[in-house]
Amino acid sequence: MANPCQLVWQYRLSISLIAATLGFIASLSVSVARSVNPKLAIPSPNLNQQEQLNSKMLQINGLIGEEQEIYQQMLAYLAEEEAKRLTFSVPVEFQGKTIRSRVLNNKAKVIALTFDDGPSSETTPQVLDILQREGIKATFFVVGKTVKNHPQLLKQIVADGHAIGNHTWNHHYHQYSPWAAAQELETTAQLIHKLTGVKTALFRPPAGILNNGLVNYAHQKKYAVIMWSADTKDWQSRRITVPKLINNALEDAQPGGIILLHDGGGDRSKTVQALPKLITELKQRGYQFVTVPELLDMPD
Ligand SMILES: [Zn+2]
Repeated sequence: MANPCQLVWQYRLSISLIAATLGFIASLSVSVARSVNPKLAIPSPNLNQQEQLNSKMLQINGLIGEEQEIYQQMLAYLAEEEAKRLTFSVPVEFQGKTIRSRVLNNKAKVIALTFDDGPSSETTPQVLDILQREGIKATFFVVGKTVKNHPQLLKQIVADGHAIGNHTWNHHYHQYSPWAAAQELETTAQLIHKLTGVKTALFRPPAGILNNGLVNYAHQKKYAVIMWSADTKDWQSRRITVPKLINNALEDAQPGGIILLHDGGGDRSKTVQALPKLITELKQRGYQFVTVPELLDMPD
């Protein structure tokens, strides 16, 4: 028969663990709910998390001995997990490389939707709604100066669980000196991190230009340069039709593929119109949707 002291200890341990987990989940839910409502003042997730931890620390002071220690360990573990969630790193084999798709020997039917040039107040909320409805995570390559104008939208993209990539500050196409290229990438990376706590090792050059100095810098800094294997051509906003846009994606869809779409940089109403149908078609063909970091992390 178990020693009564042991039983009490085990009981206290279970209560502490459950309380800590529920408390943390509840406070995270509040922060997500807040970040979805743009009218409320939102601290960035990393600051928010720090506040949550501080308040938990006050509660911990009311506990004793092992309970306090267990509680602290659990909070440290959760903080570590949150930091991991906000770090979009890439495996060593893809660092400093340019990737158009992932060749998977096991032919896993996965595909990544990517959205460039946002966030935009017209398109991004609609895209996020569709992705949430469909239960899909995507990857957003954001432009620094646009993020500066719509910080809440970037926070919402992150709160919804999507991955973030760097798409320069200005989205220009000209030649860059190494210094200018560094400015473009680093100022964007810093703003993304300041607002959301996200660190990203993904870079996509504007217009897919590979030889104007930006990609050289990105490779040196061990970014994975993420291109695409299927171009919807939604950037031809006036000339493209919704069925053509969908067809462009489906024609080039392949296991391990990356689809290029846009949620910013102009009128993207056709992208929004096409997206539900495109997702349905891909699901019918057996595809599962992954973010770019998930795609790069998959075993082949
Ligand atoms: Zn772009």
